[in-house]
Amino acid sequence: MSIEAKRPPQGANASKKLFDSTLGDRSSRFQWFFGHRRQILRKASRFNSVVFSLLICVQGCATSSGDFARSGGDFARAKDRVAELLSRAIQFKSVNPPGDEKPLAGFFSETLSKAGIENRVVDTPSGDSKVGRAAAWGVVRGSGERRPLVLLSHLDVVPAEADAWKTDPFAGVREGDHVIGRGALDAKGISIIHLLTLLELAERDAPLKRDVVFLATPDEESGGVYGAGFIARERSDLLGGAEYLLTEGGGILNRGSGDPALWRIGVVEKSPCWLRVVAHGTPGHSSVPPLDAAVPRLISALERVSQIESPIIVAPEIAQMYRELAKLAPPEDAAGYADLARSLAEDSEFRHRFMTLRFQAALVTNTMAVTVLEGGSRTNVLPAEAVAHIDARLLPGESCERFTHRVQQAIADPGISTEVLLSFETRSSSSDTPLYAAIGTIAAKSDPPAHTVPSVTIGFTDAHYFRDIGVTSYGFTPRAMRREDYAGVHGHDERADIGTLANAVTTLIEILEELDRLD
Ligand SMILES: [Zn+2]
Repeated sequence: MSIEAKRPPQGANASKKLFDSTLGDRSSRFQWFFGHRRQILRKASRFNSVVFSLLICVQGCATSSGDFARSGGDFARAKDRVAELLSRAIQFKSVNPPGDEKPLAGFFSETLSKAGIENRVVDTPSGDSKVGRAAAWGVVRGSGERRPLVLLSHLDVVPAEADAWKTDPFAGVREGDHVIGRGALDAKGISIIHLLTLLELAERDAPLKRDVVFLATPDEESGGVYGAGFIARERSDLLGGAEYLLTEGGGILNRGSGDPALWRIGVVEKSPCWLRVVAHGTPGHSSVPPLDAAVPRLISALERVSQIESPIIVAPEIAQMYRELAKLAPPEDAAGYADLARSLAEDSEFRHRFMTLRFQAALVTNTMAVTVLEGGSRTNVLPAEAVAHIDARLLPGESCERFTHRVQQAIADPGISTEVLLSFETRSSSSDTPLYAAIGTIAAKSDPPAHTVPSVTIGFTDAHYFRDIGVTSYGFTPRAMRREDYAGVHGHDERADIGTLANAVTTLIEILEELDRLD
């Protein structure tokens, strides 16, 4: 892939500053990582354009950062800075449960303090955590002409089965251009992008029109009730009346072989409807099993639940997403994507092709998975209760209440109770906003020009807490990944490409500057 870019330096603004350089001094684009950028800002030279074309390769044009290393020591140093911060963040073992995020929040806060950025560690409900749970918050003030934009990430990670990893998942080992460890992708890598973005913004001569808020919360991996949910409910003062929020859930998909990248902007998510199903039965010795034993009662109920049909439903947001994707689709699918609801209903060949891909099927159906089973603890003892957890994910427009009712109807057994563990309504954010347009403008400047697609996130993030209080929230991080890179999320040997993270900082700043111009 080419490392030259079509994108010109962007006028007399901070984006240009990022790329400014003195003749013979290549510490240009990433000066902000090292804190002595100011001296060189006003010494732009013809050499700029050379350095620029060598360094500019943004998310759309290369996945590997190997190309950049050849262009000088500055990018290599930027990557070192990313690697150092990410590696340290991974070493804080913030596995949820219990979370224990407070020390990591302290580390981020300290990093912001060193750069003179206003910040604080915000205590959140700590539950079973002995070291405490907390969010990290920081802000780089703008001129106040516009309402703030929040960069949201989370501090907690899912557990890691250390035996299945090549390295200690909490050592944050650097291996060439990668840092390996739990959270490298989800979501400590995103926290580092946001952190470095604030560090750069703090160095600007002219403020943006809006405050940019750093917020890294605990508890996302358990639904965020005690993290982002707590902040949105109890500490919305920290958001300063924010207009926008960017978080995980979307990003830049590099499709390889010269195809334009897809910038996927999450505008809505499927909503969780997590159920706990409890079968009650007569306990006792299992040598004389009663007819109402809890375990078989639960098994047959789950069998009936699995028969619930999930019809194909194309929500408006999904239809819009596929209309955009139609422009890039292979010829045999283009017409089907352009009118997805009709094609799925009427074209059986297309429907078969579409539904065979499980991630696509999940976009047009409610899904359900039995994830937890608990029964007795001894072979010869009948338990009084058997328990199953069902993780259902509902399409936009569906309600957990209605879904639970369908489950109860299918079970139709008075000896079985159901309880909702987690649910929230889906709410979408409009794609007709200056922020969405700003992201699209920067995407179009990539080489080859990338496509922006409003997307529906199959999983869920903390974005919904902020949509609920009126903040336009997108699942978008300008981090370029290939489909296979996502395997590390919640998987083994999770790793992040540090060059990709360094580039994401630059792209994010360009988006913020573009938003300033548009809005
Ligand atoms: Zn995450």
